[in-house]
Amino acid sequence: MGTYAVTGAASGMGAAVAARLADDGHTVIGVDIKAADVTADLSTPGGRTTAAREVLDRAGGVLDGAVLAAGLGPAPGRDRSRLIAEVNYLGVVELLDAWRPALAAAGSGRAKVVVFSSNSTTTVPMVPRRAVRALLDRDVPRALRTLDRFGRMAPTFAYGASKIAVSQWVRREAVTRAWAGAGIRLNAIAPGAIRTPLLEQQLATPEEAERIRSFPVPIGGFGDPGQLAAWVVFMLSDAADFLCGSVVFVDGGSDAWFRADDW
Ligand code: NAD
Repeated sequence: MGTYAVTGAASGMGAAVAARLADDGHTVIGVDIKAADVTADLSTPGGRTTAAREVLDRAGGVLDGAVLAAGLGPAPGRDRSRLIAEVNYLGVVELLDAWRPALAAAGSGRAKVVVFSSNSTTTVPMVPRRAVRALLDRDVPRALRTLDRFGRMAPTFAYGASKIAVSQWVRREAVTRAWAGAGIRLNAIAPGAIRTPLLEQQLATPEEAERIRSFPVPIGGFGDPGQLAAWVVFMLSDAADFLCGSVVFVDGGSDAWFRADDW
């Protein structure tokens, strides 16, 4: 049995993953802004440092895996773009920087990491590449400046940029000596619309609800958090030993619908 850190463990897909891992007999260290083993606000540098340190303390310096599911959706709101950039991007990469030695300590090929991206990466048009580059440089104020011109739509593009940046970071890092070379498998999952509190919040805004309901999902409807948790648990298992740097789309066919001719 292993020890797994799960961010966003209080709700939605993070909660579903944590429950499945615990049911399978693993030790789960949940991180969230509320109702978790480690409570920390991942939108602040201090919160990220606390979360990183407390997880390492509880794990005794060895982690068999990590799931980075904490995130904010593209709902409108004051300061929302900054929160999205900080939680969805820095809340992933800064924690993984800190946890990498503990993951490497699990032994070659054992530790697995799954980062939550989104199919927004390939289905939201016109996300400014400058915002993505600024996030990859960990410069949130610069990223936000590139989004100013979108006005109240800025959080939509902040969300897209945060998820593109996190997918790129995973693909760049996964194949390096620091990750693959240290025996750690680093991959991402890109869900489509999944019925969680995050999606419910978006559906509560009439304008957003219309956009979401008219979005093409070839198999129809929304996904269920349990379905996504099953994929994540598979990506943490020995069966995924040969998976490295992949972004797995589980989205009812939307990505294929938009990009049928891409491979
Ligand atoms: P959710 O809202 O149910 O869960 C997200 C969790 O993140 C919550 O428990 C919340 O408290 C936590 N969180 C938010 N801000 C935080 C902060 N500052 N500090 C610490 N924790 C914080 O959402 P979900 O739908 O389960 O989303 C999980 C992941 O999947 C997110 O990264 C989201 O972007 C991504 N995603 C969701 C969908 C969807 O349709 N639901 C689609 C694609 C990607």
